[in-house]
This record gives sequence, C-alpha cells and structure tokens, in this order.
Amino acid sequence: MPYLKFLADQLFNGYRMLGNEMVLITNEKGKIIDIINKQEAGEDVQYIKGILCPGFINAHCHLELSHLKAAIPEKTGLVDFVFNVVTQRNRFNEEQIAMAIAKAEDDMLLNGIVAVGDICNNTSTIPQKEKNRLAYYNFIEVSGWLPEIAQHRFEKSKTHFEAFQKIENSTIKNAFAAHAPYSVSNNLWNLLANQFNTKTTTIHNQETSFEDDLFFNKTGDFNRMYEMMQIDNAFFTPSGKSSVQSYASYLEQAKNVLLVHNTFIKELDIKFLQNQIPQFFYCLCVRANTFIENTLPPIDLLRKNNCNIVLGTDSLASNYSLSILEEMKVIQQNFPSVTLTEMLQWATSNGSKALQFDDELGSFEKNKCPGLLVMEHVEDEKLSASTTLKRLL
Ligand SMILES: [Zn+2]
Repeated sequence: MPYLKFLADQLFNGYRMLGNEMVLITNEKGKIIDIINKQEAGEDVQYIKGILCPGFINAHCHLELSHLKAAIPEKTGLVDFVFNVVTQRNRFNEEQIAMAIAKAEDDMLLNGIVAVGDICNNTSTIPQKEKNRLAYYNFIEVSGWLPEIAQHRFEKSKTHFEAFQKIENSTIKNAFAAHAPYSVSNNLWNLLANQFNTKTTTIHNQETSFEDDLFFNKTGDFNRMYEMMQIDNAFFTPSGKSSVQSYASYLEQAKNVLLVHNTFIKELDIKFLQNQIPQFFYCLCVRANTFIENTLPPIDLLRKNNCNIVLGTDSLASNYSLSILEEMKVIQQNFPSVTLTEMLQWATSNGSKALQFDDELGSFEKNKCPGLLVMEHVEDEKLSASTTLKRLL
C-alpha cells in the first residue's frame, strides 16, 4: 500500500507543536506510519497550508436531543432549561428525531470529530451508531430523585444498556452514568456504584451555583424545580458538603470520571478530587454554559491545579453547532492566556484518554488511526473568526 506524506506549516502531534520541518507519514487509510525529518522523506510529499492535527474528541454530547435545535430559549437558567427539555423532547415524531440525529452526526464528521462521549436516555441513536462512522462512548444515563423509584429507574436503564451492548461495532463502548447530583438519590447511587467497574463514567457537575446550596443546606432554585416537576423533596437531608464531595465516593470503581460543566466548582473541590481513586477529567462546554446560564467555568483555576481538561459541545438543545473548533474560539476569546497547544491537547490526546480510546485515537503515534485535520487561517497560533477546519482523512 502506498504511503501518504504530509508537510504542513505546523504539525501538532496530540501533545505539542513540532514545527514545519517534520513529515507525517500515513497509509491510505490514515494509519500512522511515522513522523520523520523532511530531508529523509523522499518524494511525493504533500504541502499543507495550516496546522495538521489529529481528529477531535467531543467528550460530551446528547446526540438524541439534536431535534431540539433552536427549540428552547437561551439564557433562562438551568431550572427552566431542564424543564423545557423534559417537556419538549417528546413533541417530535420518530422520523424527525432520526433525521436530526443523522444530520448532527454528519456535522460532527465535517467538523473533524472522530469520537464522542454521548449521553443516552433512550435507544433512538442506535440505528445511526450501527453505521459505524464515529467512535462512541455511550453513557447510559440514569436519573430519579425520589428514593422509591430507584430500582425501577435502574432496571429501565439496564434495558437500554443491553440494547447498546448489541451494536456490532468495535468502536462502541458503553457504561452507566448518573445524570446530575440533583437528580440521583442515594438509593440510585447505591445501585449504580457497582456498575462502573474500571470503565469511564460521567456526570453533569456544578452547572449552577444553587447545586451546592441544595447539598449544603437545602436552599436555592432546585427547590423550585422539584415543585415544577411535582416531586416531593421532603425526604432529602442535605449532606452539609458541596455536591461533588457528597457523591464522589460512589464513583470509586470507575477508572475515569468526566465531570461536565463545573461552572461553579471551587478550588477545595478540585483539591479533594485529586485524592480520590478514579482519574477525574473536567469537561468544558463553554457555548452551552453561555446559552443556558450565561456564565463560564473557572478555566484558569482548573489550569492552575493541573486538571485534565477535555472539551465537549453538549447538545444542539443548548448549542448552535457541534463543533470543537467553535468551542475553542469562545475559550480563547474569554481566556486569552490559554494557548492553542493546550486547547488542542484537550481536544485530542486528553479526550481520547478520558474515553479510553487512546490505543487508536488522539495522537500521531505509530499504528494509531486518529484522523487527520488541517486548521486553516491561524495567525501566530491564535484562532480568529475566520479560522476553519478541513478533514484530510
Ligand atoms: Zn449535557
């Protein structure tokens, strides 16, 4: 099989920038053969204008909510957003839902995404995932705030889990995941805790300020949400700790945990999590945070504490597109000290490690098949509105 040789203005290998002297060699299917100096590369080298990098990992998405694009008003706050999703998601027919899922996956492919951490509340995405175009880590989501419904909710999710397990596709992994601290009772956590078993799991974490209010002293806007949803919250006794410190011990059997959003995480929580057993990854979904709550996560605090950061788009219910590049642009605008190298690490090698796809994806290392992207119109390693992305392989 003939080899393909690429020499670009800049080569990012998943970890660092290697400059414009190194040639990336792949086979026709995109399997990485080597990276060598251009003097040794021989003939047939293709010159690429822009930055070559591995395919992107979208660590947090809800493909099954794609039909809610532009259906929910912006900047209403989390309680009203969640209420709108719950009440609106079933107003569409199966065909509309399937079409939106297919279109959203097409867009992710065009936007250079090669693997997705995808939240699954139902089985509607299975037919699309059987087409085997992207790698998926399916997080079979479990929720239920009332302690007495825990067993029933868990059994329902188990049925979904088994349906996902039947997909014949080597790039699919499945695990259970708790929806959020405010929607999973201790009874349900006890049922979930035995399922994590060296897998990766995920949870929406500290997306609002009043999540901690609930766990510290049972105050804040979630009381309004329970009322709106006619859930009797009388049983709940606050732990007197932050939300993440209240549930972290249930995650001990997981290998990796993706904490999604973290908009209101505190340094004390980060330090606490550094001493826990699983490896914690902090998933940023900045455009969704802007859409729902009009806030941004404390990215500089996470960087200062050497946190493992990854990037996600969240769903089209709270975003305009499923594009990791567009997420990076918003991060750079709001946190100018974040470098392009860091953001590319988050989007490639960190994401693949978090989702346990790092034997195949996330970096240009021999025998991996990570996808090959070129970022164009980047000046001095700064993104701008005109920066674009093209998929080469
Ligand atoms: Zn989400």
